[in-house]
Amino acid sequence: MSNKQFDVVVIGGGPGGYIAAIRAAQLGFSVACIDEWKNKDGKPALGGTCTNVGCIPSKALLQSSEHFEHANKHFAEHGITASDVKIDIAKMVGRKDAVVKQNNDGIQFLFKKNKVTSFHGRGSFVKAADGGYEIKVAGAAEETISGKHIIVATGSNARALPGVPFDEENVLSNDGALRIGAVPKKLALIGSGVIGLEMGSVWRRVGADVTVLEALPTFLGAVDEQIAKEAKKAFDKQGLKIELGVKVGEIKSGKKGVSIAYENAKGEAQSLDVDKLIVSIGRVPNTIGLNPDAVGLKLDDRGAIVVDGDCKTNLPNVWAIGDVVRGPMLAHKAEEEGVAVAERIAGQHGHVNFNTIPWVIYTSPEIAWVGQTEQQLKAEGRAYKAGTFPFLANGRARALGDTTGMVKFLADAATDEILGVHIVGPMASELISEAVVAMEFKASAEDIARICHAHPSLSEATKEAALAVDKRTLNF
Ligand SMILES: Cc1cc2nc3c(=O)[nH]c(=O)nc-3n(C[C@H](O)[C@H](O)[C@H](O)COP(=O)(O)OP(=O)(O)OC[C@H]3O[C@@H](n4cnc5c(N)ncnc54)[C@H](O)[C@@H]3O)c2cc1C
Repeated sequence: MSNKQFDVVVIGGGPGGYIAAIRAAQLGFSVACIDEWKNKDGKPALGGTCTNVGCIPSKALLQSSEHFEHANKHFAEHGITASDVKIDIAKMVGRKDAVVKQNNDGIQFLFKKNKVTSFHGRGSFVKAADGGYEIKVAGAAEETISGKHIIVATGSNARALPGVPFDEENVLSNDGALRIGAVPKKLALIGSGVIGLEMGSVWRRVGADVTVLEALPTFLGAVDEQIAKEAKKAFDKQGLKIELGVKVGEIKSGKKGVSIAYENAKGEAQSLDVDKLIVSIGRVPNTIGLNPDAVGLKLDDRGAIVVDGDCKTNLPNVWAIGDVVRGPMLAHKAEEEGVAVAERIAGQHGHVNFNTIPWVIYTSPEIAWVGQTEQQLKAEGRAYKAGTFPFLANGRARALGDTTGMVKFLADAATDEILGVHIVGPMASELISEAVVAMEFKASAEDIARICHAHPSLSEATKEAALAVDKRTLNF
């Protein structure tokens, strides 16, 4: 039995867990955070999937590869000659590692600043005791700590294809995909979701011949159809080959690479030989090693921890947040749940609005949205008005030389309340915030249309799309 007692013990130091720990400490609780992540150098690395093999490293590689593509394909338009442009992949990956390290260190600093006690190792339930829970920490040494409240934030792992385990040499998860040592001549991706498209974009830009195989017949089914179509056109033009409606068959991995047998949408047998294969077919909630049975913590048939709308599990004072529970697997969703749970433990009214969680795909063009899609509104039978504005008619986009895409507003036909905003185009990831704020405040399309937006800015396309709902764009 340990003598280390905490008000709150957080298991998992990803964006859900570390933010929950900081917020709980801000609220005056004694807090421990247990995390088992080790980077390739064997050192503890806080930040979870997001920081180590997810959001942050993918964005670092996307940035580097985009610079390379600009230097090769777009500098000339600006009168800049850049001949013999080369890319040093080791340096690009090294820079990504340095960016990751800055973030790892940043979280460590924040723990110190907020007096969160950090444990490195695997946390698992031992038993309920003294109105709280005992948690074993298995790291370099083994010890048991206890907490009155437990927040489980153990995240998720990449889903492998049945019978095709990740070897991270030929068959790669997101982890291996972020540290390929040299540009593969031919690269295949199975799964055209967010991660697949981002990883495919990175390696295509630096010279790989990339084919994306997708089982579903529609491209980006969760995205507004008009926006997805526009994005697909852009990806086709860039040379990212996307095959929809395929049925993947046998996959053989050997010294020479990977060979993939599949049926195309017409039912024809095909085979594809590539140097590397990235499998990005979704993620599985992670409770490996948590020992949920020791306390009777309930999981669903997907392996996710069962929680209610407030992230309460079936056990008193045990909470779960982020990828290990229902809802979108997004870092900012995990963070919001972390803050809300810490506040609920403090007797406050933590709140997460699932209707206004923004989604972003950091390809070029970027895709971002919040709220409902047009196909969802149609299926619901809701009367709506739509307004779109193309970046082609936006002065800042022309100056940037990046006029692909549009902003699209969907508003209630009677009240004009904004129901969804969808963007494909430059800096969509930043532009979407205005729509999130507007929807949080239950704004109407007219509210955005009447707000002064800086000129020239991409955000004027947002204002114009809001004006388009009322059929009164000024610049188109
Ligand atoms: C390639 C890629 C790109 C992505 N890009 C984005 C993006 O741009 N934006 C976005 O919002 N989301 C993105 N995501 C998703 C995002 O990374 C996740 O939604 C987010 O990390 C979930 O946070 P979490 O705190 O729930 O779990 P995680 O980040 O997975 O963290 C869980 C932590 O818990 C630790 N752990 C697990 N079990 C135990 C245990 N028993 N004891 C101790 N520690 C344990 C793990 O080692 C890990 O450190 C991306 C994901 C990938 C793979």
